[in-house]
Amino acid sequence: MSYRIALVAHDSRKRELADWAAYNWEKLAPLDIICTGTTGRMVEATLREHLTDQQEQALHITLLKSGPLGGDQQLGALIVEGQIDCFVFFWDPMSAQPHDVDVKALLRIAVLYNIPTACNRATADFLITSALFSAAYERKLPDTSAYVNRTLPPA
Ligand code: PGA
Repeated sequence: MSYRIALVAHDSRKRELADWAAYNWEKLAPLDIICTGTTGRMVEATLREHLTDQQEQALHITLLKSGPLGGDQQLGALIVEGQIDCFVFFWDPMSAQPHDVDVKALLRIAVLYNIPTACNRATADFLITSALFSAAYERKLPDTSAYVNRTLPPA
């Protein structure tokens, strides 16, 4: 199974993510890449600029809906289902988004499920160059048993 990386950037940070993807194209190209719609189109175009025909055919990139149209929620669901190994999310720290609640929910679920998550380029650099950046890394899942088995007040 190849490593599954989710990439998302808000509009003001898409250029930065494209630069990062271009710089790291050799590492990213063999991975299973999952993106919100607009980010994904940009990442795909960026990677294709570097790839040979053969590499282009092997490129595996999934485009979800655009973030404000539910893409963040789709990605959150993939995290819950255990289908994402790592997450690069360049969110905009300077402006409110129409889907701020979805952004907050996505970040919350990424933390809850212990997903390695980079929200800026320095952290993304640390992540992608880490010796643990591989499908062999076994991420610990949260122990939710106390919550699941909690005693509810009688009806
Ligand atoms: P987009 O969505 O990639 O479709 O622009 C990003 C987001 O706002 O979550």
